[in-house]
Amino acid sequence: MAPPFFVFDNRFMHDCVGCFVPWQPVAVAAPKMIRFNRALALELGLDAEALDSPLGASLLSGNQVPEGAQPLAQVYAGHQFGHFSPQLGDGRALLLGELIDRYGQRRDLALKGSGRTPFARGGDGKAAVGPVLREYLLGEAMHALGIPTTRALAAVRTGEWIHRDVGRLPGAVLARVAASHVRVGTFQYFAARGEIGSLRALAEHVIARHYPDLQDHADRYLACLHAVSERQAALIAHWMAVGFIHGVMNTDNMTLSGETIDYGPCAFLDAYDPNTVFSAIDAYGRYAYANQPIVARWNLARLAEAWLPLLDEDPQRAVTLANEVVDTFARRYQRHWIALMRKKLGILTLEAGDPKLIEDFLSTMAEQRVDFTLAFRHLSAALYGNEEPLRALWMEPTGIAAWLVRWRDRLARDGAPPEEQAEVQRLANPIYIPRNHQVEIALKAAVEHEDLAPLDRLLTVLSHPFDEQPDAAAYALPATADQAAGYRTFCGT
Ligand code: AMP
Ligand code: MG
Repeated sequence: MAPPFFVFDNRFMHDCVGCFVPWQPVAVAAPKMIRFNRALALELGLDAEALDSPLGASLLSGNQVPEGAQPLAQVYAGHQFGHFSPQLGDGRALLLGELIDRYGQRRDLALKGSGRTPFARGGDGKAAVGPVLREYLLGEAMHALGIPTTRALAAVRTGEWIHRDVGRLPGAVLARVAASHVRVGTFQYFAARGEIGSLRALAEHVIARHYPDLQDHADRYLACLHAVSERQAALIAHWMAVGFIHGVMNTDNMTLSGETIDYGPCAFLDAYDPNTVFSAIDAYGRYAYANQPIVARWNLARLAEAWLPLLDEDPQRAVTLANEVVDTFARRYQRHWIALMRKKLGILTLEAGDPKLIEDFLSTMAEQRVDFTLAFRHLSAALYGNEEPLRALWMEPTGIAAWLVRWRDRLARDGAPPEEQAEVQRLANPIYIPRNHQVEIALKAAVEHEDLAPLDRLLTVLSHPFDEQPDAAAYALPATADQAAGYRTFCGT
C-alpha cells in the first residue's frame, strides 16, 4: 500500500474547540496542477515527486481528502476598513491539517477556493486562477526577500468557470502553508461573545505554537502580547523597507505568528510616494504605504483589547498593561525600521543623525517620484564611486547631489571598509521585486493562454532578488509611464 502523502499532527482542533466547524471541500470538475512548489514540499518533508502529479492535483484541490486530514473552516471576527464584523470566518478556505516540517516547525496546510462553507455569506466559495497565482508569486517573492510569509504549496486549476464582475474566469484552488492561521480576528470573535475560556485556550495554543519560550513565563499573556507586538513591528518594517503595500490590513488579515497573509490587492511601490494606494477598494487610503505602521498599531490595539480579560483580573490594571504594549509599538517599529534602513544605506554603526539622513533621502525621492527600488540599489554603484546611475534617476539632481555628500561623510565616519558596507547594502536592497507590470504580464499569459513561461521566468528571477542575473535586466526596470498609469489591484474575491 502506498504510504500516506501527509503525516498530519492536528492540534488546533483539539486546543481550540469553538474556533471552527468540521467541513469538507467541494469536488471540482477537472483538477490540473498549474504549479507545484517542490522546494516548499521538500521543506515540509513531503514526497514532491509523487505530489507533483494528477493525484497531487486531486489532493490539493480538495477533490480527494488526503488520509489523516480533518478539514475544518475556522471562524473569526474582524475590523474591515475600521468596521467591526462579529463573524467572518473561512468562507472559501479549509484547514486540512498540520504538518511538522523538517525543522520541527508546525505548519498549517490549507486550501483556498475549495467551496462554500457555513461562513461564506454571499460568496461562491471559489477562487480564480489569476488571484491564486498572484498569491503564489507574491508569497514566493516575499519569502526570497527574507520576509515572514505564508506560502503556496500548489495552485490547481479546477476546470470550472467562476463568475465575477469582470465576467467568467477560470477557477483554481490554492494550497497554502502557514505557521498558523490564527488572526487578531480569531481573538476578537471570542472577545465579542464574552467567551473567555475559549479566548484563553486560543491564547495558550498561540503561546505553545509561536512563542514557546514564554510558556513558563510568570506573566505569559502580557509577555506574549509584547512578543506579538515585536514581531508585527519587525514585519511591517520589512514591508516598508522593500516598498510592499499589503492593501487590506484588516484585523482578520493580521496573524499572531507575524507572517504576511492574504495577498489580495497587495503591490510593490514603484515611484516613491508615501501616499501610494493600489487597491481599488481602498477609496480613502486607509492602507496606503505610509499608513501601514499606524494601522499595525491600531490592529495591535484591537488585539490587546480582546486580550484584556487575560491580562489582569482588575479591569483597570488590564487596560493600563494593554496600553503599555500598544504605546511601545511605535518605538519597536522605529527600531526595526532604522536598523533595516541603515543597512540599505550601507551604514553599520549607529549615529543620532541617521533617521534624518534616511528621511532626507526619501524626501528627495518623493519630490521627484524616483523609483524606490532602483534608488536604493544604485547606491551600491555610488559607493564605489559611480554616481551616474543614481543621479540619472532624478530629473533635477541638486537635492540628491547635496545628500550624497552627507551620505559619503557618514560612510567615512562609519569606518568600515567599503567592501563590507557594500555587501551589507547589497543584501538589503533587492534588484528584483515583483514589478506590477511584470506580474500582470505573467498572470495574463497564465490565465488567458495557459502559458506559464512568463510566470516561471518571473518566479526564477524573484527567487534570488539580491543577485544580478544574466539576461534579467528587464525585470529590474520600472514600468513605463503608460504601464504604471492608474495601476489598480483588486481583492479578486
Ligand atoms: P479576504 O479579503 O480574502 O481576506 O476575504 C474576506 C472574507 O471574505 C474572508 O472571510 C473570506 O473567507 C471571505 N470570502 C472572500 N471571497 C469569498 C468567496 N468567493 N466565497 C466565500 N467567501 C469569501
Ligand atoms: Mg483574509
